[in-house]
Formats: sequence, C-alpha cells, structure tokens
Amino acid sequence: DTIGADLDRAVATWPDREALVDVPSGRRWTYAEFGAEVDRLASALLASGVRKGDRVGIWAVNCPEWVLVQYATARLGAVMVNINPAYRTHEAEYVLQQAGVSFLFASPGHKSSDYRAMVGEVRGRCPDLREVVHFGDPGWQALLDRATPDPPYEELSCDDPINIQYTSGTTGFPKGATLSHHNILNNGYFVGELVGYTEQDRICLPVPFYHCFGMVMGNLAATSHGACVVIPAPSFDPRATLEAVQAERCTSLYGVPTMFIAELHLPDFAAYDLSSLRTGIMAGSPCPAEVMKRVVAEMHMAEVAICYGMTETSPVSLGTRRDDDLEHRTGTVGRVLPHLEVKVVDPATGVTLPRGATGELCTRGYSVMLGYWNEPEKTAEVIDPARWMHTGDLAVMREDGYVEIAGRIKDMIIRGGENIYPREIEEFLHTHPGIADVQVVGVPHERYGEEVLACVVPADPAAPPTLAELRAHCEGRLAHYKVPTRLRIVDSFPMTVSGKVRKIELRERYGA
Ligand code: ATP
Ligand code: MG
Repeated sequence: DTIGADLDRAVATWPDREALVDVPSGRRWTYAEFGAEVDRLASALLASGVRKGDRVGIWAVNCPEWVLVQYATARLGAVMVNINPAYRTHEAEYVLQQAGVSFLFASPGHKSSDYRAMVGEVRGRCPDLREVVHFGDPGWQALLDRATPDPPYEELSCDDPINIQYTSGTTGFPKGATLSHHNILNNGYFVGELVGYTEQDRICLPVPFYHCFGMVMGNLAATSHGACVVIPAPSFDPRATLEAVQAERCTSLYGVPTMFIAELHLPDFAAYDLSSLRTGIMAGSPCPAEVMKRVVAEMHMAEVAICYGMTETSPVSLGTRRDDDLEHRTGTVGRVLPHLEVKVVDPATGVTLPRGATGELCTRGYSVMLGYWNEPEKTAEVIDPARWMHTGDLAVMREDGYVEIAGRIKDMIIRGGENIYPREIEEFLHTHPGIADVQVVGVPHERYGEEVLACVVPADPAAPPTLAELRAHCEGRLAHYKVPTRLRIVDSFPMTVSGKVRKIELRERYGA
C-alpha cells in the first residue's frame, strides 16, 4: 500500500481521535483535521509544480509542519529528502546537490541555527533548487493558498522511492538510503504491532523526525494504528520531555539510551508523574542493563521494547516482545520481526556461522532499502546479489533465537591480538555507582597495538572516580586485557543528532 492510502484509512477509521499534538505551540489536530491539512499541502505542492519523483528537501527541527510535509510528499509521490537539522552549510549543500532537491522546506531558526541565513548562503550553489519555504513565514501560508480542490494526483506504486534518509554519520560521512512506501510503511506498521499500539496510545517523541526513529517508528507506527504523536520540543530537552509525558498523559516514550539517562538524572526526576506510561522504544545504540532496570521500575515502562535497526533497513529488523523478561531486554535486541530474515556470517568469507558464534549480522526482506541514492558502487558494497544487507555490526544468534549485538566491526578493539568488544566493558562499568555514563574506545598503543580507554561522565562531577578505583572495580571480574588502562573524565560525549556517540571523535580527541 502507499502511505497516502494508509493515512486515508486512519482518517476514515479514527476521524475524531487526536493524531498530532505540538506541546510548545499548543496546537493539536484530530485525524480528520490532519488528513485535511495534508491534502491541502499536497495540492499546494502540486500547484507549485512539484511532481512524482521530484526531490523535496526538509531541513528542520521537530515541528508539526515536518509531519505534514512527510505525508503530503508521500501523497504526491515526491521523494522527501531528510536533512539533518544539525548540518551547517557545507553538509547541507552536499545533500541538496547530491539529491537534486528542487523544493526545500526549512525551519526559520532554532537556538544557534539560523536556517534562513544558511539557506541564503547555499542557495546560489544549488542550481536545481527552485523554491524555499520556511515554516511559520508568510511563504508557508502563501504556499497553502495555492491549493485547489480535487488536484490531479498521479498514479503511485508502493515500490516507488518516497524518501532519502541519510544515515547518522556515526562512523563517517552519512549515506543517503533510498526507501519506498513498501519499505517504511510496513516497518512502521510492524513496529506498532511490536509495542501493541491502539488508538488509545499517545507517543511522546523527543527523537528527531529527520531520522527513521522519529518518522518511521514514531509517525508511521502511529498512523497505522490510530495513535497520537506528541512533540515535546523542537530538539531534545529532558525536562520538556517529561513535562509532555505528564501533561499529555503519554503511554509511550521513545529515546536512545543517552536520552533516558539524561531524564533519569534530572535533579527533580521524582517530581514528574509518569504513571501514564506503559511502553516505549529504546534503540539506536546499546542500552546498559542498569539503565533499562531504572526505566522499567521508575518510569513505569514495563513493556518497553529494545529495537535494533539501521537507516538502510527502514530501520527495524530486531526487537524485544512485550512480555520478554529483563534479561532478554538487556542482554539482547530481541528476535527478528515478521517477514524479515537475519543471519550471522563470517565477515571474511560470508559463510553463515553456527548459533553462539560472533560474526557480521545480515538482514533480508521487505525492509531493505532500494539502494544508496545515485551511488550504485556503495550499494553493491553492502547489499549482495541475494539481497542480503550486510550491517557492519557484530552479533551473536543465541540458541533461543534472540540476537546479541556486540558492537560495530569498526569499533572492535584489538589489543595484543585479543578481540575486545567495548560494549561488554561499558555494560560492566555501568555497575559502578560513580559512573553516570561511559564509552570505551581503543586508542593506539606502541606495544599492544591498541589499549582500552574509558571516557566517563561521573555521577557526581565534584567527585569523579579515579582510574585506580575503576581498575579495582574490574579486578577479578573482567579479564585483565579488558580492564581500562586509561581514563578520561568528560561532561558529555560528542553526539550525532540521532543521539549516537561518535566514538570516532573520542578516539581522535583522546587517542594521542
Ligand atoms: P553511519 O552509517 O553513517 O556511520 P549509523 O550507522 O549510526 O551511521 P544509523 O542508520 O542511524 O546510522 O544507525 C544504525 C546503527 O546503529 C546500527 O548499524 C548499529 O550499529 C546501531 N544500533 C541501532 N540499534 C542498536 C541497538 N539496539 N543496539 C546496539 N546498536 C544499535
Ligand atoms: Mg551505519
């Protein structure tokens, strides 16, 4: 099916249920109202010359207009190009040119980002770019006024490309994954099934819409189940997030682990009434068991799911089920989603490994992207002729069918010939009371090739743990070669906008 058809069904089934709430501005839309706004915007874009297959860029922080553009472009069959709101001119220009964006939506400005000035600067260097509309400007209203009744939409196919989503850029420069209606609509639906959404659910989304976590696992999962999306703030703010959960009686809360950590560490955390929460999704990077325990116990999210995925697979391929126990919810990323396949292979030979062995995780099925936009060689490096997507992540398929993620192949530390998975050490260090958050990376060492560096955000900045204390904590409980030999106390980690720690930057900063 197409995304437009899915929205029509939601409007017909739940016309009076709330579809979207923007907490900062207090605006709210029922499905009937939201569907009508989408139609108006789609018609206005058509009247502005936007056709099926044209690339429509969106460079914006979270706001309700973002969601309208997502559905309006899908209704037209235009290809929405998500541009990371943290980008500056150099990166945005690359994306605008690479994707051939002809129509651009952008925020006016947010915090230190002046999108008006930045767009003004790059516009002249993007020959395909015909029109730019900033949300909230008079141009937005003028655009909507171009809508006509019964616009002549083109025939769409569910295999049409609908979206170019860039990967987070955790390990290097982001790649543009081209996705179809079929890819992301189905994934949104199955994610909604995984957490058991109904029209009673209200999903608090502090994660960026530009990333698949927001726009697919949030928006598309909501529409396909009649649930409501609640926007707590334009960009992540732990306090605004908990306030929105409380005020809007949200039943579900999303985040990457670092977001949950920030919420749990608010000085007035205990003052928020989070009793409406039932579930949520934690994804994007490994979740420490200690954090998961607190989320379940103190945030009432007894059914919270862990999901594993990547932009190239729409994104989710593995997830925990509602009734999984804590061990499965912390030690693993769950089981494969319906209609998808996963396998673990030897990265060197491609041969499938037996259960229990560590190798590269591969995914196949409806969710695998059409390819990287205009980069057939890069596509061929990750999708093999049998359509298996090679994820670049190390995993173990357990006997019980649950999958453990050991980390990225690129992050593995090799010390004196021993393979070390940072994830395992991070997990262990989280049990130290003086540690709020920790990242472990390999840094060059003359004799061993690499040594283990722990970058620690202390629980109490006035009394950070020392290296000797950390080593004593590990003594007798971790193999000697895994015990960190270096320690850095930091305030925070360099992050992507999707909330992933850029280990590459930690290595560059502290590796010397
Ligand atoms: P880039 O490909 O540009 O370096 P990225 O891989 O971080 O960036 P995304 O597509 O946003 O871009 O993220 C997918 C990756 O996130 C996965 O390949 C995996 O390494 C990591 N990941 C996602 N979910 C989980 C999870 N539940 N546990 C551990 N790692 C996860
Ligand atoms: Mg990646």
